[in-house]
Amino acid sequence: MSTQKTDPASYPRAEVSPPSGHLFPHKHLLGIWNLDPTAIKHLLDVAEGYVDLNRQASKSTETCSGLTQINLFFENSTRTLMSFEIAGKRLGLDTISMSTGTSSIKKGETMLDTAATLNAMHPDVLVVRHGDSGAVKLLSEKMDCAVINAGDGRAEHPTQALLDALTIQRRKGSIHGQTIVISGDVAHSRVARSNIYLLNAMGARVRLVAPPTLLPADVDLLGVEVFHHMEQGLEGADVVMMLRLQNERMQGAFLPSLREYYQFWGLTREKLKAASDDVLVMHPGPMNRGVEIASDVADDLDRSAIEEQVEMGVAVRMACIDVLTRDLRKEAAQ
Ligand code: ASP
Repeated sequence: MSTQKTDPASYPRAEVSPPSGHLFPHKHLLGIWNLDPTAIKHLLDVAEGYVDLNRQASKSTETCSGLTQINLFFENSTRTLMSFEIAGKRLGLDTISMSTGTSSIKKGETMLDTAATLNAMHPDVLVVRHGDSGAVKLLSEKMDCAVINAGDGRAEHPTQALLDALTIQRRKGSIHGQTIVISGDVAHSRVARSNIYLLNAMGARVRLVAPPTLLPADVDLLGVEVFHHMEQGLEGADVVMMLRLQNERMQGAFLPSLREYYQFWGLTREKLKAASDDVLVMHPGPMNRGVEIASDVADDLDRSAIEEQVEMGVAVRMACIDVLTRDLRKEAAQ
């Protein structure tokens, strides 16, 4: 089993700019790929504080007041966009969201021209989702402000992996030593890739459970165990993360039929018996019930952490915005 990390889909190393000595020595959050355990732990620690704040009646702080956040989404989103908006607002930023349907992107403006236009408005945080792997990194090079990757193609979705990590840490006490299954359409999933990097960095044992057609070409380099049989892969698992079939990223036929897929790869109560008794079931959403997961498993309050993942998403995104704007706020206060 190799633990060598690969550069996903020509996804270059993120810029490391602030001085050393910082717990999070990065200007942007473009992926998990280049984060060390200290940086990951720091974001999770900060997020913990925001979980408490978010459960109070009064949820707002002035931490980032006066700063501007733009959410630029070239792909659809429910959870990620809403939680970035809520996160920014709770921290006191002026938060504006722009999606492709309502912008000049529809009129043919290139992504980089859009970036230049937004840059001229002096935002302090830009949150970007794009369908192409590496697009957010490219855009970050044109921006003066902190850029957060909210999902790029099949490359990375770092805040999803962080919110998953926070969920596991809170439910299981730690990530280290847990046996974590990631199952389904791994090949097209940025969620899977970011999770593999993060869980490996934090000392979990990662298993991929999927048909060979739904595994990425570089699977041997990811430092994971691979199973092509659901019950075998689930044996003794502490956590199971199910993935959606990403039809929008598939070119050609990867599966015989959805019925057959559910039969072999859908997470049912029966299959889950192979996992440990206190197994935690997770899904990044949106879920396709009856395809990759049975409804009674998704809705089982004792085992499913799916709603908690959404809750952790707000706290994690607040932590990312907070940490990435710290130097800026310090400068402004001087
Ligand atoms: N919401 C996640 C993403 O944007 C997972 C999914 O779409 O299936 O990648």
